[in-house]
Amino acid sequence: MSSTSFLIGVGVLLSLSHLVLGIGTGLWLRHRDARDSQRESRKAQHLLAFLRQLAGSMAEDVDTYQKQVDTASTTLENLPTQDSTEVTDLVFSVVRDMVQSNQQLKDQLTSAEIQLKQQAAEIEDCLSRSLTDALTGLPNRRALDDDLERRLAGWHRRGAPLSIILIDLDRFKSINDTYGHTAGDQVLQQAAQLLKSSFREMDLVARFGGEEFAVVLPNTVGVDAQTAVCKAIDKIRSIEFSIPGRTLQVTFSAGVATVLENETAAEFINRADKALYRSKETGRNRAHFHDGQQAILVGSAETVATTEQITPESEPDHMPDNPTAGLQLACEDLRQHVAEWLNKTPR
Ligand code: GH3
Ligand code: MG
Ligand code: MG
Repeated sequence: MSSTSFLIGVGVLLSLSHLVLGIGTGLWLRHRDARDSQRESRKAQHLLAFLRQLAGSMAEDVDTYQKQVDTASTTLENLPTQDSTEVTDLVFSVVRDMVQSNQQLKDQLTSAEIQLKQQAAEIEDCLSRSLTDALTGLPNRRALDDDLERRLAGWHRRGAPLSIILIDLDRFKSINDTYGHTAGDQVLQQAAQLLKSSFREMDLVARFGGEEFAVVLPNTVGVDAQTAVCKAIDKIRSIEFSIPGRTLQVTFSAGVATVLENETAAEFINRADKALYRSKETGRNRAHFHDGQQAILVGSAETVATTEQITPESEPDHMPDNPTAGLQLACEDLRQHVAEWLNKTPR
């Protein structure tokens, strides 16, 4: 390889590395969480200082190399013409110097490349941690919002439809109150894995917050989204969740919506939330689909009837040992039944 093309190669390599790291840093900074922004901005400052230093030292190395090449070429141009032994020795020494400085620059580039790779891996790790929920390992709310915005842009531009499912574990507070927060955490982790395995690879299952999850289903509308949620309801209710010393059954309520024309992410989520609320107020352990006008019960009457037989409140395994929590559950049931009865009673 000639000196010029080698130098061009060095320049291109440096620019590309800095471009890649620059983009990475930008993305990383954009995704900073308000909570740990201080820590991350300190990291970002370190990273930028490192990049500045690396760019400076690489520029110096390339400069030195350029000077060595210039000296070598001047020496070769001014070779004496008479004494052939002297010429041979001189050419030999120039070539040896060139080979040496070539090797030096290559070593420096290799070490710079290793450092750049390490930094890139660190940025990737930070990015992925800032989009992942620490307890369940699922994508977090921020990742969900990003995905939803991207998919909605696809819907508005290309007409690629999608549905969303909001899921809220039923009477989760009583699990915490009865078996403790750590057991509650374990239930959340198991629910997360079960939900993930209930949906397709292309669907995004995320932790929405607390004991709530959300699923984005690309290219899925209406009945197909309803079928998907029924499958997940069936799966969760058929599983025994393990917590230390016992197993228990857990159910969830869900709200489903398929995106409407010109709908924003907030409006879309809001409709699914209304459908979820309807599932809660009509007895839990079921799903409703919001069609743009109203929330309609998902699945057959048989599904709901089966579902009702094993709601947490009627499942003996789920009944808390703690009498206060039991009383709270009983009061909640009573309040629920009165609300349902008032809803049904013509006024
Ligand atoms: P509902 O059926 O109406 O949804 O009742 P619920 O008890 O599930 O809902 P509520 O909003 O009353 O309580 C939610 C509970 O979830 C309270 C909160 O302490 C608990 N929770 C939220 N996040 C976590 C978590 O990360 N770990 C644990 N163990 N509990 C959590
Ligand atoms: Mg909730
Ligand atoms: Mg809940």
